[in-house]
Amino acid sequence: MRSRSPRTVVLPNAAEAAALVKKMRGEIDGNENYRTKSLKIFGPVCAKCGREFDQSNLKLLTVHHRDGNHQNNPPDGSNWENLCIHCHDDEHSREILGDYLSAENIK
Ligand SMILES: [Zn+2]
Ligand SMILES: [Zn+2]
Repeated sequence: MRSRSPRTVVLPNAAEAAALVKKMRGEIDGNENYRTKSLKIFGPVCAKCGREFDQSNLKLLTVHHRDGNHQNNPPDGSNWENLCIHCHDDEHSREILGDYLSAENIK
C-alpha cells in the first residue's frame, strides 16, 4: 500500500504576506528613506557647490545631518543638507578643524 502522507506546505496568507512586505519596506525606509525625502525636498543639487546630479551620478550626492545625528530625521528636512561627496568630506574635515582651532584659541 502506498503511503500518502501529504505534507502541507504552509503558505502565508495574504494578510501575513502584506505585513511581511510592509516590514521589509520599513526596514529599507529606516536606512534610505531620509535620503529620498531630502532629495525630494531640496532637489538633486549640492547645497554648497551647486553641482546638479542626475540618475547616473546621483549616488555621489549624500545627505549631511546638520547636527551630526543620523537618527535625527525630521520630515521637514530641517536637519538635512544635500552635499556632494566632496563638499560633504570638506564639511566634516572643517568640523574637525573647527574643533582644533577653537581648542587652540582656549590656550
Ligand atoms: Zn558639492
Ligand atoms: Zn555629514
